[in-house]
Amino acid sequence: MKRLMTAMLAGLATSAALAEYPDKPITIVVPFAAGGPTDKVARDLGVAIGAALKQTVIIENVGGAGGTLGAAKVAKASPDGYTLLLAHIGMSTAPALYRKLPYNVETDFEYLGMVNDVPMTLIGRPTLPANSYPELVKWLQENKGKINLANAGLGAASHLCGLLFQQSIQIDMTTVPYKGTGPAMTDLLGGQVDIMCDQTTNTTSQIESGKVKAYAVTTMTPLKTPALSKLPTLDSQGLKGFNVSIWHGMYAPKGTPAAVTEKLNAALRAALKDADFIKKQEALGAVVVTDARLAPAEHKKFVAAEIAKWAPAIKAAGQYAD
Ligand code: ASP
Repeated sequence: MKRLMTAMLAGLATSAALAEYPDKPITIVVPFAAGGPTDKVARDLGVAIGAALKQTVIIENVGGAGGTLGAAKVAKASPDGYTLLLAHIGMSTAPALYRKLPYNVETDFEYLGMVNDVPMTLIGRPTLPANSYPELVKWLQENKGKINLANAGLGAASHLCGLLFQQSIQIDMTTVPYKGTGPAMTDLLGGQVDIMCDQTTNTTSQIESGKVKAYAVTTMTPLKTPALSKLPTLDSQGLKGFNVSIWHGMYAPKGTPAAVTEKLNAALRAALKDADFIKKQEALGAVVVTDARLAPAEHKKFVAAEIAKWAPAIKAAGQYAD
């Protein structure tokens, strides 16, 4: 009898806690350094989600190892809805790239819904002599063996895009990995590295203010965002079919109660309808996902398909890390 009472009381306490969720600040882990493209999405999204949940949202940057350190931290966090992850396409490439990934992308997370699609741009240091994509190709050919390509580590979007670019033009470059393309951008601006392929959520303002050389967008059609609309596609400049666009999704540790994940999904839906969030995303070249892709089941199906899509390309490229 005493045991039954204790169990009932514990049950009541749990449902009371769920009913009150969230009653303290929520942390969204960004698996890259501050000031980069995923960080920028997370900070605006955090404001919109915080408004929907009437709670403070804190962004924690856990960069390194192409985003896998931050994802591992969330996979192992308490499944109480107070530690979440905002991650990009790297979630689907890490299983093929890392031999000893400390988490299982498909079974260690609750999927909360997708967020946006973000195109990428090919940019160069301000002092690079090339002023157009054809001039860049000429410069790359003339400087073989001396070119530094920045990225955010194995599995980062900048790594994947840079890898495809090197394969397409058949010029090998020295890759310089950072904890995120935020710090990589600082070095590119300072001339320590030559080129980088990075999301528009990090490059738009630098392109707009003429602080970096911008050569191309990585999508099949030019972008509508005014600051980027004049940039030609790589496809139209000789790299037929070159098409890299990344996506973000939100995750909670496996075992987070359904009552909590449902609240989080509802908050994400509200955030993606927030006019201010949509405007900020569009100004940075990103497109907020449609309602259908906000369903956790669709999100999970999409990531599984992406894992299957990337694995053969990664195996063919022979890129692995422990
Ligand atoms: N998202 C970037 C990348 O994958 C890294 C970052 O957000 O800093 O390269």
